[in-house]
Amino acid sequence: MYEAIPASADLSRALHSWLLSWYAREKRDLPWRRTRDPYAIWISEIMLQQTQVKTVLPFYERFMARFPDVYALAEASLDDVLRIWAGLGYYSRARNLRPAAQRIVKKCGGKFPETEEGLRALPGIGRYTAGAILSIAWGKDAAVLDGNVMRVLSRLFAFDIDPRSAPGQKALWDLAERLLPEGKSASWNQALMELGALVCLSDNPTCLLCPVAASCEARIRGEVDRYPVRGERKKVPVVQGICAIVWRGKKVLFVQRPEEGLLGGLWEFPTAELRGWKPRAGTAEDFVRETLGLEGSVEATLGVVRHIFTHRDLRLHLFVYAAKGGRLRAGRYRAHQWVRPSEFERFPLSALTEKVVARLAVMGSGMTY
Ligand code: SF4
Repeated sequence: MYEAIPASADLSRALHSWLLSWYAREKRDLPWRRTRDPYAIWISEIMLQQTQVKTVLPFYERFMARFPDVYALAEASLDDVLRIWAGLGYYSRARNLRPAAQRIVKKCGGKFPETEEGLRALPGIGRYTAGAILSIAWGKDAAVLDGNVMRVLSRLFAFDIDPRSAPGQKALWDLAERLLPEGKSASWNQALMELGALVCLSDNPTCLLCPVAASCEARIRGEVDRYPVRGERKKVPVVQGICAIVWRGKKVLFVQRPEEGLLGGLWEFPTAELRGWKPRAGTAEDFVRETLGLEGSVEATLGVVRHIFTHRDLRLHLFVYAAKGGRLRAGRYRAHQWVRPSEFERFPLSALTEKVVARLAVMGSGMTY
């Protein structure tokens, strides 16, 4: 249950006028704002989810140069897409792009669906992305609600519910739809997002420069820090993991994770999470023997690399392992290769594996390159 957030017609009109003129003056010149091509807007919106504009820019330019349209993307291999995406994180976003492009080519003759239902039937497109494509590419009156918009609306209306909770989402989507200025949703949606990105920041919003400050309920009450309200957050569990950097001569074993699941399709050193694990002598040897079928010995330890995922705080213990015998079993992986360290950059790697590679470079492997 939720109560609709009141927004009078006068207030809506004032917000439209202030925010749209501010956006016309202050908006950043971004490559995806120079086009109304739904393909370009789709790629940018997927990349921008949970990621800042300055991080996205080089990835977007490379992606559009390599896959300039939906046909090029539909024909790409998963590895091609992941290689361009590597380092941007949240890899399920990248994995969904290709099947979505293939569906657009095969079922829609290469044209993007122009309805919310049609767009949301595509892999990886939810209510937010559908709203962004509909409003920005075609000027339809569709709302968006991302982290920036949630924060701005929560403060403007001093909304007393956690915006990420189910009732919070329902109330804010409803408000975002009621606030849409007819025929101007493309600029309005982007203006709200831009205000959140440039002025109404999570920490220290610059209210003095804010075009809607006169009507901002949180500012008027002197309670900007209180919004958005946060419900109780679950603590992310700490999980221990093991990573074996397995050498055979001058080459290292690189494996590709299965396509489905966390970091699917990316390359890494053989790694496993060990819940409830306490480090002890022999763990690395057991891991390599049991999971890879190789015999050998640990030559060095490279300490612990920490990486925080959405649902866990991983502490990865790194071991350098010299393979001296046995028969490699790598059936649990999508593919494997023995590679020289100079070849690492040919592979799409997760941010976690990049950290392991950096540690290896800094500390040396104990083996000859
Ligand atoms: Fe955000 Fe401050 Fe503007 Fe309110 S006045 S919308 S808190 S920047």
